Amino acid sequence: MVDKYLRRVLYIDLTRLRYWVEDREDLFDRWLGGTGVAVQLLKEELPKGADPLGPENVIVFAVGPLVGYYPLASKTVAVFKSPLTGNFGESHAGGRSAIAIRMAGYGAIVIKGKSRIPIYIAIHGNKVYFRDASAYWGMGSSYTVGRVIRENEISPGHRTIMRIGRAGEKLVRYAGVITETYRHFGRLGLGAVFGSKKLKALVVSGKLELPVKDKIRFRDIYKEIYDRAVKSPVMKKYHDLGTPANVLHLNEIHALPTRNLKQSSFEHADKISGENLAKNYLGRRVACAHCPVACIHIASWREPYVDEPYFYKTMFVSYDYEPTYSLGAMLGIKDPVGLLKLIETVEVMGLDAMSTGVSLAWATEALERGIISEKDTIVKLSWGDYENYIRAIELIVEQPNDFYKNLAMGIDHCSAIYGGQEFALAFGKNEMPGYHTGPAAHIGYLIGARHSHLDNAGYSLDQKTLGETLSPQELIDRLVTEESWRQILSSLVVCFFARGIYKPELVRDALEPLGYSFSVDELKKLGEEIYREKYRLKVREGFSISGLRIPDRIFETESAKGFITRDYIIEALNYFKEKMNIK
Ligand code: SF4
Repeated sequence: MVDKYLRRVLYIDLTRLRYWVEDREDLFDRWLGGTGVAVQLLKEELPKGADPLGPENVIVFAVGPLVGYYPLASKTVAVFKSPLTGNFGESHAGGRSAIAIRMAGYGAIVIKGKSRIPIYIAIHGNKVYFRDASAYWGMGSSYTVGRVIRENEISPGHRTIMRIGRAGEKLVRYAGVITETYRHFGRLGLGAVFGSKKLKALVVSGKLELPVKDKIRFRDIYKEIYDRAVKSPVMKKYHDLGTPANVLHLNEIHALPTRNLKQSSFEHADKISGENLAKNYLGRRVACAHCPVACIHIASWREPYVDEPYFYKTMFVSYDYEPTYSLGAMLGIKDPVGLLKLIETVEVMGLDAMSTGVSLAWATEALERGIISEKDTIVKLSWGDYENYIRAIELIVEQPNDFYKNLAMGIDHCSAIYGGQEFALAFGKNEMPGYHTGPAAHIGYLIGARHSHLDNAGYSLDQKTLGETLSPQELIDRLVTEESWRQILSSLVVCFFARGIYKPELVRDALEPLGYSFSVDELKKLGEEIYREKYRLKVREGFSISGLRIPDRIFETESAKGFITRDYIIEALNYFKEKMNIK
């Protein structure tokens, strides 16, 4: 059933600089691919209680059966133990990563151990090379690292270059991994895990041809998916304005977290809206490999060279809703170029935009309240002052004093030391995504396996039920059903933006010409099993619902569904504990 390439797992041991391939048909047959298989590989390889920044931590990249075949099956799943939460870490990225891994002939890559010196790994089909990366370690910009490696790793076929910036090297707990410049394994600190292993980059290339069992049926299903992607309204919004289209909508319904969620709407939202950015700064759109939608919006603007009149460089940066919220509204930034410069700084350093923005928002309020002083922050942090925020981002990476060392470990950690936990917006120790839509969003962050809005889309449930009140039990049931089905999408591995296309019946039909035979019920049951497996791993690594901290701030600021109460959230969490049979 599983094709001969997908079931190959490449194991890489950085301590011994060795690699080998194993046929893991057992795993791909049982768990499909992507998240389903990656969780099993992590369970096998990660010692219980492992230090996330120790050599015993393991990184698993996995793709799935639809990758390389159908449009929008363009994502790679990474799982690891997160240095930010100390528990299960999962992050998804597109770019060319998924297609390159698939075309190189692997379903998953497992990286363990720790190199003695900075290295990067180059995987070209069946060959794996360990290259000395000492010359790249300490380079100021992640862009430059990508450019230099691109020159050195010329190879036919599809190629991906994943790399870290200075933030990963300096073990900032929310450092990300950048792939193809404009895409990221952003959340939960994969960049710091790379850094701890002295792994600067991972290059993968390949040019296989994938087998198709039933070519005629495949062509029909392909056309159906392609047409829905480009001709139906389902994906149009992603192409036109992209996710920043959310800014004005969320602002209008009072769901846009602003100035550390002291407000849920921003009086300058129009300036950083998708509409304004598209009108004045959109340079072009790009797409992940094998995606006809092209939702990645690239802004451009001109910057004068210092002391060189009439000499300009043109800057490019990709913008989505999440950085626009976290580095824009959350910091009170109304200048669109200021926002783009902040996004650019985060890119250059290789940081997660959401955690960075939310951390700076907490620090700004802590400074306002006198919990910390300018001696700690070195620069004066004040809402809207993007130049000082740029400097503060550099300081998070440099870590010149105890305050920045602690801030680089996330705001759950930092606020436990300095105070201000009641307005430290982290859930399960992961900084908050950009939705104050109502209780489902926040409960979703708390119970989501990776504490991300993408786990169970609570923000979407709130918006679909505006004006209605769900019982805590119904809310939990709906979030769990959504998160369970998403395990199938992330095992195939399909971009979550295409969830409106890849409905259960279509997934069943799409798998069929590739030799898989699943009923819709079987797929849903498998999704539930993968979800439970993830939770078992979380619990094994010490996660408990009772240990979750709920910041007071979310009860103080009115959401799109009115004020949220602590009692409602506690009742929902108690029901979740019973349902999942966990503490
Ligand atoms: S919709 Fe956007 S993120 Fe998703 S695969 Fe296409 S370009 Fe990539």
